[in-house]
Amino acid sequence: MFFVLNILFPLRKNVSYSKTITDSKGEILYSFITDDDKWRMFTELDEISPELRKAIIYKEDKYFYWHYGINPIAITRAFWNNTVQNKRTSGASTITMQVARLLYPNHRTYINKFGEMFRALQIEWCYSKDEILQLYLNLVPYGGNIEGVKSASVLYLQKQPNHLSLAEITALSIIPNRPTSLMPGKNNELITQERNKWLNRFLKEKVFDETTIKDALSETFDAKRYESPKNAAHFSFRMKNKFENDLNIETTLNAAMQRKTEVVLEDFMRTFKGQNINNASAFIIENKTMNVVAYVGSNNFFDSQNSGQVDGVNAVRQPGSTLKPLLYGMAIDKGILTPKTMISDVPINFDGYAPVNYDKKYNGYVTTETALALSLNVPAVKTLNELGVENFTNKLVDCDFQSIARQKKYLGLSVVLGGCGTTLEELTTLYAAFANDGKFQKVNFLNEVTNNKLEQIQKNKKQKTKKEPQTTNQILSPESNFMICEMMTNLERPDLPDFWQNTKNLPQIAWKTGTSYGRKDAWAIGFNDKYTVGVWVGNFNGEGVPEMTGTQNATPILFNIFKQIDSEHSRSWLKKPKDLDIRMICSASGQKPSERCENQIFDYFIPLISDNKICSHLAKVYVSENDSTSYCMDCLPTAGYKTKWLPKHSPEIIAFFESENIGFEKIPPHYAKCEHVYKNGAPVITSPNDGSVYYIDKNYPEEIQLKCQAGQDASKIFWYVNDVFLKQTGKNESLFFKPKEGRVKISCSDDLGRNSNIWFEVEFVEL
Ligand SMILES: [Zn+2]
Ligand SMILES: [Zn+2]
Repeated sequence: MFFVLNILFPLRKNVSYSKTITDSKGEILYSFITDDDKWRMFTELDEISPELRKAIIYKEDKYFYWHYGINPIAITRAFWNNTVQNKRTSGASTITMQVARLLYPNHRTYINKFGEMFRALQIEWCYSKDEILQLYLNLVPYGGNIEGVKSASVLYLQKQPNHLSLAEITALSIIPNRPTSLMPGKNNELITQERNKWLNRFLKEKVFDETTIKDALSETFDAKRYESPKNAAHFSFRMKNKFENDLNIETTLNAAMQRKTEVVLEDFMRTFKGQNINNASAFIIENKTMNVVAYVGSNNFFDSQNSGQVDGVNAVRQPGSTLKPLLYGMAIDKGILTPKTMISDVPINFDGYAPVNYDKKYNGYVTTETALALSLNVPAVKTLNELGVENFTNKLVDCDFQSIARQKKYLGLSVVLGGCGTTLEELTTLYAAFANDGKFQKVNFLNEVTNNKLEQIQKNKKQKTKKEPQTTNQILSPESNFMICEMMTNLERPDLPDFWQNTKNLPQIAWKTGTSYGRKDAWAIGFNDKYTVGVWVGNFNGEGVPEMTGTQNATPILFNIFKQIDSEHSRSWLKKPKDLDIRMICSASGQKPSERCENQIFDYFIPLISDNKICSHLAKVYVSENDSTSYCMDCLPTAGYKTKWLPKHSPEIIAFFESENIGFEKIPPHYAKCEHVYKNGAPVITSPNDGSVYYIDKNYPEEIQLKCQAGQDASKIFWYVNDVFLKQTGKNESLFFKPKEGRVKISCSDDLGRNSNIWFEVEFVEL
């Protein structure tokens, strides 16, 4: 009959619990009320201490481990007492029957009592004794909407059930019998009296040892109703949604560090509010484990006026200059650059894209390390142009940049200046790779214990584990990674916030700042050997703030967080990889010096990888004795000339020097009577025709060919249309372009800086 009933009336198993999010030490960060508005936190088996188990079983059901759900002796006794002696006796209900009653609340009639017994048998059929005890402890009432021993210990005592003293265990074991008259916080004295009655009974029957009980008797019971824990709100909500099937989500967060970080953010944002900067976020990774240890989605979750509930760690924003270190690291690994390689920082046009520096000024020649320290845009775009946009974006996709993965085919050279979408979490995870010798790993949110448990559960269910393979990806060689880390620890840089100029107090970290276009996002991301910290400051509503920068607004927060979370901040931690070497280079180019390169300095390089070319920053030129004329091999006189080595500059550098009135050693004008095809050595434009009018079909516009004859000593040709750079070609290559209507100026320069111009007219007609 039991089996028939068992099928007809299956056991209710879907009790809903309050999800709790705990930190790495088991402290509850956040607890969520159930859908039926109850605080019913799930007590794990390992949270039921032996003392709690013993006290409950002794008090409620001494034969719990011996019966099958109902205790016939107790029932007979209770029946006898109730009917024959007409006095009420409790104790007939086993723990299992109490569970049945808690699952199916009913009036206490004899019929219902039988129903309860059936359910009790059913529960014993379905669950082990430990699970039944667990169910009991999870469902017992504690007054109001508090149910279960875990909710009671957290909300009345601010403790986890496995940290309760014997006095507290005893108190909590008696409250469910009279939850309204024994309300913790209200009736603490009465609870203490009742507790002591039971403690004395424990003493008499030697349930626990004497000293423990005597200690418990003298303990004051000072429970009160605490607010439910609401810490690390953004993180907790995210974890709740991410791991929706878990009741107790044990995370990697460090509650103490979280609190410290929140305080730093709150303090700074109070001062920034006056500048109309209202939101900030921080994200911290422990490098060795890749555990997320702090996660501040916004400086004030409860500030609804400023969208405080937006999770700034996970929001897509423009990264400003924060991707530049990866770019230079990749360029070093490609052999394109070393820290002292000279890059030109002058106005330049890449097929219509003309990057400008942040301060709209240019520096002429700069080294890689200066370009990164000053966060210059032109050198970064030049480097990206050489490396290839796709190589760069592919690397970012490898590093789990999700918006970039989606936008990839639309991204161009501006990506390295922040023309893309990234999150604080993505950027901080990337920087943690710099802290880990160039090895990229994903972050962990769940602590190892939980991870193992989940794996075990999945194994038990014989499901295919959906866990993604742990990707470790060497995104930069340790050598190149070291070089960019050293560049990022360099303190001679403009992105030190004003009041940190006293470098004595600076934490020993590597860091980079960023400010997005329109001053909407201020970033500072830094790391040492232990932690990587990412900070974002801005407005969630997207409003830009003219005076906001990564330097002035995000960096001070970054420094302060490091001071708070990592007090021994004076150690040096960067270690030179063994395959990194040092060599002499020419300071004018950063290349291996030729015998004529006078200024030589030390620089790092990666053997067999770094560019090994001999410096050719000087060109051999034949000039007249008075330095007024230069010659080529065709017009070189038999006497009266000398050989000179003069610096070679690209046309864009020459244009820059000239426009800024910067003096430089020029190659003298070419011999005027030279019979070679070119005059003055400059390229002669052979197409289009100088001074002609070109009629072009409006509907099917043709392209016009650009062609020139260049000097023997030229090797590259640079084309400009209306003074805007169009393209670089080889000496004898031609190219086509689509002209606009009107007067068009074509300029053509060679790599020795000689230039010629022509003008022609374009008219669009219907043909
Ligand atoms: Zn040189
Ligand atoms: Zn000549």
